[in-house]
Amino acid sequence: MTNDDKLKQYLQLQGHNALQLRAVLFDMDGVLFNSMPYHAEAWSQVMTNAGFNFSKEDVYMNEGRTGADTINTASIAQFGHPATQELIDALCKEKCDIFATYPPTPRMESAYELLQKVKEYGLTPMIVTGSGTPTLLDRIQENFPGIFNPAHIITSFNVKRGKPFPDPYLLALSKGNLNPNEAIVIENAPLGVTAGVAAGLFTIAVNTGPLKEEILSEAGASIVYPSMQALHDTWDELYKTLTATHA
Ligand code: MG
Repeated sequence: MTNDDKLKQYLQLQGHNALQLRAVLFDMDGVLFNSMPYHAEAWSQVMTNAGFNFSKEDVYMNEGRTGADTINTASIAQFGHPATQELIDALCKEKCDIFATYPPTPRMESAYELLQKVKEYGLTPMIVTGSGTPTLLDRIQENFPGIFNPAHIITSFNVKRGKPFPDPYLLALSKGNLNPNEAIVIENAPLGVTAGVAAGLFTIAVNTGPLKEEILSEAGASIVYPSMQALHDTWDELYKTLTATHA
């Protein structure tokens, strides 16, 4: 299927005539920052110490959930009950503390260049992340100067229900005054893709981690690119396809 076919499929399913693109909603970890190797290391260490069976691959499969949801989901699956608030708070703190000892997280290759292009096209870039990691959130403006309006950054502090629920993306639409056919999503995680699709958004995945590409298509991604660089390199062509009118 061509990208044009995938767009038509989305438009038909959602009952839109066309995308009227005004904004691009970017996930943060694994999309803007190359932070997933650090998250995987820190989460698997903290969870394993607390008695959970939790590999690095589990971190990638849970990516997008808030920290509390990640712990609760594992607790219900492995012990048959949700975690206590005390345990959640302790593990989240421990994870953030470990994360803070790592060297500064690098930007994902080509991410800043893509964001600059998005702005040149007159589109509004927004961030929609399940993250509550101060070490990263505090570094957005310094790493991507001149790109984001602070009001257009949705984090785990802004929603009760994180990804895979559509809530973070719905909040972004409301903050940006956008209809679902006026924005697209860029995600790297299966649960993030699920959230974008559930919010009625055309969702593009970049497979920047160790998961199989099919996991992202099966989660509902219309298009999957192997990297942010690949998405950046194809942006002009992609924009043309996405904004073509379909009679
Ligand atoms: Mg991500």
